Amino acid sequence: MNCKNILVICTGGTIGMVCDKLSGALRPASMHDFEHILPELSDTATTATVVAFQPLIDSANVSPSAWSRMANVIYKEYEKYDGFVLLHGTDTMAYSASALSFMLENLQKPVIFTGSQLPLGVRRTDARENILTALEIAAAEDAEGKAIVPEVCIFFENTLYRGNRTTKRNAEQFDAFRSFNFSPLAQAGVHITYYPHRVHYPDWSSPMRLRTRIDEHVAILKLFPGISPETVRAILGIAGLRGVVLESYGTGNAPTAQWFVDALKEAISKGIIIVNRTQCAQGAVEMGRYETSLPLLQAGVLSGYDITTEALVTKMMYLMGEHGNDNDTIKRLLQTNLCGEMTIS
Ligand code: ASP
Repeated sequence: MNCKNILVICTGGTIGMVCDKLSGALRPASMHDFEHILPELSDTATTATVVAFQPLIDSANVSPSAWSRMANVIYKEYEKYDGFVLLHGTDTMAYSASALSFMLENLQKPVIFTGSQLPLGVRRTDARENILTALEIAAAEDAEGKAIVPEVCIFFENTLYRGNRTTKRNAEQFDAFRSFNFSPLAQAGVHITYYPHRVHYPDWSSPMRLRTRIDEHVAILKLFPGISPETVRAILGIAGLRGVVLESYGTGNAPTAQWFVDALKEAISKGIIIVNRTQCAQGAVEMGRYETSLPLLQAGVLSGYDITTEALVTKMMYLMGEHGNDNDTIKRLLQTNLCGEMTIS
């Protein structure tokens, strides 16, 4: 087996922190720290090169421009490396992984996000295991020399998930992520077991394309019993708003009060695209199943099927950025599975 070159892009988060010996405070890790704490970073099978964002960012501060930076680094270095590992804070990792899955169109190499709940340099850290296994996955190839998982993924606590299917669901335990509507792509134990039948494969004959145009005029409208007309109208009335993730109940149900239905209809008539996504972690939207979702269907609200909020927000931003005011194309693509982000039932 030839030695694989992996680019590790450290963006920040807990995983990029070490405890300063003198002050005892957490500070961003340097290249020296990485090599010192993780001497196994490079071995005979893998050569890892680490580059870091300056400054490193807590992922609560990640924005579309940071996604664009991440995607641009990968695009620029694409030919030089066999795979990429992104070290990223866990808080918004699912958003970044979703965004990159759309920005790196027709990806043919692994892009593996990982992070940790405890900083790199502390004794019980989960960072070492996560980084080393992410590197192995980023370097894994099949008998023909093709990447086993040519996708944007999240590897965390022994499990490899499709990035645009994940959600952070635990702020305390090491297994911080879940993919409620799609089974893992691999499981790491004594061996790493891959599930190739679940992998989303690219068109190997055409190149990867970079798509970094983003339109941020998107909002989330989360329903709750007692939500007022003022709240709904204020959100739908935001100047320049182009897309709304409607977080509904159960299989996509919502209040049938006339003021609510009228507010949605008015927004849609102004060209705002509204997509229905359930507040439930697991399951899909099925508009028309209950009487309480029929008015949404009739008003022109689109189904988000079983997509995560993270994937839907970033997909809307990406489609609106790429396709400008062409709402028909945006709506059509919102109802299309682009890179494994949803199952159309
Ligand atoms: N606040 C940190 C971040 O998301 C938490 C973490 O890294 O897990 O950047």
